Amino acid sequence: MGALVGKTALVTGASRGIGRGIARRLAQEDALVAVHYGGNETAVQRTLDLIAQEGGRAFAVRAELGVPGDVESLYARLEDELARQGAGPEIDILVNNAGISGSARIHEVTPELFDRLFAVNTRSLLFLVQRGLKNLRDGGRIINVSSASTRVAYPESVVYSMTKGALNTFTLALAKELGPRGITVNAVSPGFVETDMNAEKRTTPENRAALAAWSVFNRVGLPSDIAEIVAFLAADASRWITGQCLDASGGSRL
Ligand code: NAP
Repeated sequence: MGALVGKTALVTGASRGIGRGIARRLAQEDALVAVHYGGNETAVQRTLDLIAQEGGRAFAVRAELGVPGDVESLYARLEDELARQGAGPEIDILVNNAGISGSARIHEVTPELFDRLFAVNTRSLLFLVQRGLKNLRDGGRIINVSSASTRVAYPESVVYSMTKGALNTFTLALAKELGPRGITVNAVSPGFVETDMNAEKRTTPENRAALAAWSVFNRVGLPSDIAEIVAFLAADASRWITGQCLDASGGSRL
């Protein structure tokens, strides 16, 4: 039996990249996984197929984040799907992973970019948690996917980094708020991970090597590197850790 048998997890942005890795890993530990996505049907089907091949249980929940009504539509679909699976509306693990990047130095930032990044990466996440507290069982887990750009200066994406800084602050406050319910709240901060998000930065051997050189291990991270850490934070073994932002960057820029 896996460490998460009998648990239900919602992983946002799980159709691709790090979220797909997390969804697969939690399903391997026998959690029932709600695979949230924004609209990429081919990608979400691939995640579901991989989980099924690995003997896991999962279903898809579509909801575009960062638009009016996003959170309500996500939970309405989640609860419908859980009912279809013969389960109640409760969840045990909420992984806030969906996010967008946005390269812009200070002189390139526009109000539109600022609003869009905060809407998807920060605003929707806060209200997703606020609404999700009705569903999250006592003793549950909230895991926020942050970024090493909150520790290492990354002026190339100043607003993106700010959205993740806000997420770290939220993680700390929420951990204290939810302690009485036995819910742990932590963040993980990846460095460069091989996903669509930074594909354009890995187009030549030279720029790929430059990304790899951020890590003391001289490689770009894989979604599975992050998923292992999230699986630990989701399990009972991590019950005494809360309010922390765990660096998950392969020692980037130590
Ligand atoms: P990705 O490969 O671009 O995948 C993004 C996922 O989020 C997809 O499932 C996508 O759904 C979903 N998504 C994006 N915008 C959405 C929206 N507005 N509404 C609903 N769903 C949306 O990203 P990733 O690289 O795996 O990144 C995952 C998380 O890790 C993000 O929070 C990111 O900031 C963080 N992170 C990534 C890296 C890295 O190097 N990759 C480094 C540090 C932190 P669809 O497939 O339907 O579009």
